[in-house]
Amino acid sequence: MKSLQVLTPNKKCIFDCPFCIAKGHKHNNDFVNNYENNYLKWESNLIKILKENKDLKNIVITGTNEPIQDIKCIKDIVRITRKYRSDINIELQTRYYKYDKVFDLIDVVAFSVSDYKLLKKVVKTKNITRIVVILTDNFNNKTLTDIIKQFDQRIEQLTFKIIQDSNGYNKKLDTWIDKHKANDETINNLKKQIINYNGNISIMFDETCMDSTNRYMVFREDGNLYKDFYEVK
Ligand code: SF4
Repeated sequence: MKSLQVLTPNKKCIFDCPFCIAKGHKHNNDFVNNYENNYLKWESNLIKILKENKDLKNIVITGTNEPIQDIKCIKDIVRITRKYRSDINIELQTRYYKYDKVFDLIDVVAFSVSDYKLLKKVVKTKNITRIVVILTDNFNNKTLTDIIKQFDQRIEQLTFKIIQDSNGYNKKLDTWIDKHKANDETINNLKKQIINYNGNISIMFDETCMDSTNRYMVFREDGNLYKDFYEVK
């Protein structure tokens, strides 16, 4: 396992993104919250995973809501990881664009942005900053140059993500995505422009972020390890 997605405990998200894949899981993110109810179990299981998986290179702090809603949990994950595996890179996925001191503890802060106008709101963090463009129709007809010009030029990384639907489970979600995903022409043009880009920003295109195979596993608030975001024990 190269990467571990560590989830902060589920709660109602302060945002209500219409494309939120967390709303598209059959388990409805309903897991026992051992982070709060049985902390020692949660912590000892995380330590065990860190110690046993020597090939683990990356921890990604994320959630089924905005992880910044649980700064204490973020700090605990960072503290434990630094103590037992100081070699591991720690990433935080967020759409909270105001600077928070907790960003200083993180190696890579990845800000999701689904609206072209919001690109300029992303703050440069102390270490590496990544912008993750969620390809909604808001980006239709925008070029790579248009997008890069919008944000702080000190930002080091840029990832484009195709929106993933729930494969029929959440009809409202899937209908919205079908109507509001970026058009093929925009996506194809961006892919060509990325190939020809020779600037300083590291750029990636991610078409399969929910496919965990050979990529990552998931550690939930119940203190258990899952093979992906869909599995229920
Ligand atoms: S911030 Fe993330 S978890 Fe919250 S609604 Fe948006 S996509 Fe879903």
